[in-house]
Amino acid sequence: MLLSYQKNEANATKKKSKYTFCLVLTDLFNEKGYHMEYNADNVFAKIIRGELPIQKIYEDEYALAFYDIHPKAKIHALVISKALSTDFSDFIDHSSDDEISGYMRAITKTVTLLGLDESGYRLVFNTGSDSGQEVPHLHAHILGGEKLQTENL
Ligand code: AMP
Repeated sequence: MLLSYQKNEANATKKKSKYTFCLVLTDLFNEKGYHMEYNADNVFAKIIRGELPIQKIYEDEYALAFYDIHPKAKIHALVISKALSTDFSDFIDHSSDDEISGYMRAITKTVTLLGLDESGYRLVFNTGSDSGQEVPHLHAHILGGEKLQTENL
């Protein structure tokens, strides 16, 4: 009986240490910037892989900019990151300073190409369910070319 009890306890300890090991591994992966929850089936991942057509505005090693398929302003562009991030918070938390500044500069280059420097524009990062984010890949909306509504701001 005692022998059996010790054996069970040994198994329990073994299971616990296996579990702890998994948790530690998960933490390490997150610290190293792996985007574990990213789903490569989303529409912007397909666009980056060249599987869907776009009206391209700008591209560099950090970002790809193109016109939104359902424009919500006279000018409506999207700038998506080439980093595989689900949203703005994921991108900032897991990317290098070079990736972050490269992506931000791609946004202002796109603004200039769209001719919006003088007239102004709105930059939107929908993030998470309350924002109505539909595509789980980091993207900035650039809206402009007309006076924009200010409700919900
Ligand atoms: P969000 O709601 O912030 O996730 O915005 C996703 C945006 O992607 C929407 O404004 C859509 O109109 C746009 N969109 C979805 N599929 C495409 C596509 N194939 N080409 C261009 N824009 C797209």
